[in-house]
Amino acid sequence: MAESDPSCLFCRIVAGEIPAEVVRRTEHTVAIRDIDPQAPTHVLVIPLDHHRDAGSVGRSDPPLAGHLLADAAAVAAQEGVEGAGYRIVLNTGAGAGQTVFHVHAHVLGGRPLGWPPG
Ligand code: 5GP
Ligand code: ZN
Repeated sequence: MAESDPSCLFCRIVAGEIPAEVVRRTEHTVAIRDIDPQAPTHVLVIPLDHHRDAGSVGRSDPPLAGHLLADAAAVAAQEGVEGAGYRIVLNTGAGAGQTVFHVHAHVLGGRPLGWPPG
């Protein structure tokens, strides 16, 4: 569901109740630096609306899923990692490493990124 959840960490960051280093805002998303960066550039692009994961937003609001990708690419350009290459990660489900169940795209770059990821 797209309504804000008061118990959700990223809904609270979106609402400004918990501080974060905001690098970009649009009418659809807010982009913040990850608190525990895994690369020189590690930004989280968070839709303002609450959806639990990438599958949920893709099914219930495909245009928003598109904005999430577009805004992630804009962050990569703003951070100067577009030319070298970067990674957009959408961990989906606990078994894939998702720990915050409000969909967010990780934008990672600024160092060589191996494949497959660890
Ligand atoms: P996930 O594991 O769900 O894909 O990603 C959650 C990300 O949120 C992690 O990379 C974690 O470091 C980051 N994170 C968790 N709590 C906070 C916080 O309070 N502020 C910020 N900026 N990042 C957070
Ligand atoms: Zn939320």
